[in-house]
Amino acid sequence: MYERRKSRQITVGSVAIGGDAPISVQSMTTTKTDDVEATLVQVHQLATQGADIVRVAVPHEADARALPAIVAEGGVPIIADIHFSVRLAMMALEAGVHGLRVNPGNMRNPKHVQEVAEGAGERGIPIRIGVNAGSLDRKLIAKHGRPTAEALVESALWEISLLEEHGFSDIKVSVKHQNVPEMIAAYRLLAERTDVPLHLGVTEAGTPKQGIIKSAIGIGTLLAEGIGDTIRVSLTADPVEEITAGKQILKSLGLRDEGFDLVACPSCGRAELDVFALANEVEARIEKMDLPPMQIAVMGCEVNGPGEARDADIGIAAGPGRGLLFAKGKQIGWVPHAGLVDALLAEAQRVADEIRASGEGAEAAEGGPTVLKGASRRQTMAIGGIGRGPGRSN
Ligand code: SF4
Repeated sequence: MYERRKSRQITVGSVAIGGDAPISVQSMTTTKTDDVEATLVQVHQLATQGADIVRVAVPHEADARALPAIVAEGGVPIIADIHFSVRLAMMALEAGVHGLRVNPGNMRNPKHVQEVAEGAGERGIPIRIGVNAGSLDRKLIAKHGRPTAEALVESALWEISLLEEHGFSDIKVSVKHQNVPEMIAAYRLLAERTDVPLHLGVTEAGTPKQGIIKSAIGIGTLLAEGIGDTIRVSLTADPVEEITAGKQILKSLGLRDEGFDLVACPSCGRAELDVFALANEVEARIEKMDLPPMQIAVMGCEVNGPGEARDADIGIAAGPGRGLLFAKGKQIGWVPHAGLVDALLAEAQRVADEIRASGEGAEAAEGGPTVLKGASRRQTMAIGGIGRGPGRSN
């Protein structure tokens, strides 16, 4: 579906970024990095939630001194986020971090840039250049009038050149803006002008209420155009929420087959049961199950229900007093409303066992309707209504 922009590939620890590598999801700790215990707790929470990479802020020497323990026990690649200081950058490299986020343009002494480029180069450690609308060089603001997309890209290309002139090309770049259209424009422009892998993000996106939507639109638009190699959803919230949102963006675009995809109708006056309660119960219970990627549909009536439920790996289409259960495109049978969730989950487990037994993919499960693109199968669970017609009122 998406023709991926061709970017050079780098690796952050065990995680490849760019080229044909899967889009990775990352976040940043909010703890004081020198509090090793608290930072490791958060790093582990993020890793458990599915973070591919975790970044930690290193504003002071005490933070840099904490890095060896965090790297050793983090369990995921760790990136040190450093501004201005060659000393902290070198300490981070010596601590064994898997990546640096540092803007060479912030280092006033060209010898410092050389030292960091050579130090990172010798160790095979990549550097992310993080251009941000809020901290754009004053000269560029003066030239462009404000932090426009052009200004961000000009800054990024200049920063890239500062490292490349020392023979360092293990680079990824972000051009973040809090304004979504400007952010999209900046990345599009940058994607045309360089092959460095791109780290996507809407900066200062805000609380989850609006930040997730801003990020989904900004990051999602670019990913749908094949632009972007790693993403960070910036939220004013527990960073675990960033990982959840980032993975959901990838799943929504079919870029990551992981966990279950719940298709649930929004309910309306035709609903034969409480779709909200049903969908929430299914979601809560399915999260606790160890299932391969699967789509599950929960539909409230006969209008769209059977179609969606049949198309999912497992689905329910509600009718009066009972619902019709589907698995892999086949009608399994009618189940009273009270037993729908149990029946759905039992069927999900059965299909999951079949998928696992088949080894390679859902296509081995007989009649599998959801042959999904990508390396693995996706599981879809649809909760919906029983319907005959092609009508779509959702
Ligand atoms: S499937 Fe569509 S028409 Fe039926 S209850 Fe849900 S929202 Fe309403």
